[in-house]
This record gives sequence, structure tokens and C-alpha cells, in this order.
Amino acid sequence: MSVTYPHLLSWLADIIFPKRCLLCREYVNAYACTSCLNTIDLKGSFSCIGCGLQVSAGRTCPFCKEECSVDQLFAATEFKNKDIQALIKAFKYQFISEVSSSLVVIMAKYIKQLARRGYLPFGQSPLLVPVPLHSYRLNWRGFNQSELIAEELGNLYQLQTEPGLLIRSAHKAAQVEIESHEERKKNSEGQFVCTRDIKGQAILLIDDVCTSGATLNECARILKLKGASYVGALVIAKG
Ligand SMILES: [Zn+2]
Ligand SMILES: [Zn+2]
Repeated sequence: MSVTYPHLLSWLADIIFPKRCLLCREYVNAYACTSCLNTIDLKGSFSCIGCGLQVSAGRTCPFCKEECSVDQLFAATEFKNKDIQALIKAFKYQFISEVSSSLVVIMAKYIKQLARRGYLPFGQSPLLVPVPLHSYRLNWRGFNQSELIAEELGNLYQLQTEPGLLIRSAHKAAQVEIESHEERKKNSEGQFVCTRDIKGQAILLIDDVCTSGATLNECARILKLKGASYVGALVIAKG
């Protein structure tokens, strides 16, 4: 068996910098240990992507339908959970791409819980589409966290993933830098381009955090203009 250069590097890195659980600080050779992952509460209720009110099966409520193009929102956890915040921050801002596997474990647990309750986020065999980063941010970070999660989920559930379906058309401020809901909505408009026709296609958008929902709704609006029949969104945390 040949040892490839990147494998050798990661083997060396494990010796020099052994991995600790980001949550309990134990040396477990993982960024989140199983017992810490098991203590993270999964979201039991669903909220409307527009108004945040409790709704059945995550469906966008009738009052928000006109403004919101996402049909259904599935959020595995609440962003106010400190452990989730620590994992997402390490993933996003400390560039630890391996954290994606721990986040996918949380999502898989959530999906199992949904299935047990009779909800099927993958019911229409949707195409998984990660919310794209602008290439400027991608280069700076080295990876798109949503794409890593979408790919792992696709492998796990044997669903097709298409990271290139949506691309960013212009660099605007990151949504996290903008406070007001209206400003966030304005900032997200015209940011995305759908690269092919997707008539009749069901799509599940994948992202890490849904805060105002503006980015997801704008992605969904563009996908529907190109013919998508359904656009759901699956995120790790609802902000
Ligand atoms: Zn731990
Ligand atoms: Zn609503």
C-alpha cells in the first residue's frame, strides 16, 4: 500500500497536534466526541422560515408564502446551543474542515428523528444543493462548509449532490455582517445564478445556519425561476 503525501501530512499532523474534542477538551482524536455529540438537543418543533412561528412539518406559513420561496425548512438544532456554536465557528472561522463529519452525525440523528415521526425531507429524492460561497470567500477559507456537508449527506443517503447548480454572481457583504432583516434581504437579491434548467426538479438546499432566511429564500427564488418544483432547506441550526 502506498502512502500518499496528503495522508502522510495528516498522519504527522495527528502526532504533532493530536485532536481534542472542541467541547470537552478530551483527547479523542476527533473534533467532537460521541458523548458530547449525544448531549446536543435536536429541535423537536418546526418554524416558518419567514415569521418564525411554529408550523407543521416546517412548511412556510400562508402569510409568508408570497415573500418566501423556500417551501419547507428543516433545522436540526438551535444556534443558541453553545456547543453547536462552538462547532460551527470552528468549521467556518478556524477552517477545520473535518468538523463537517461531526455536523453530519448531528444531521443524520435529526433525519432519523424526523423519519420516526413520519416526516421525510428526502421524500421526493431531491437534488442536494449547497448554498454557494463567493469565490473570494472560498479562496480565503479553502472550502465551502455547506458543500462538504452536502457531499457527506449525499454519500450517506445516496442522493445526488450538485454544488455547481447555484453560483454567486457578485460579491456582497456576508449576511452575518448585516443587522437588519430588510437589509439582509436586499443584500441577498441578485447574488445567485442557476446554471441550468431544472424543470420539475425537487431540490433540498443545504446550509449551516439559517438566521433571517434571506439567503435561502433568494436561492429558492432563483431555482424556481429555472423550473424547480419544490425547494426545501436543511440546515444544522436555526439562528
Ligand atoms: Zn467531548
Ligand atoms: Zn410565516
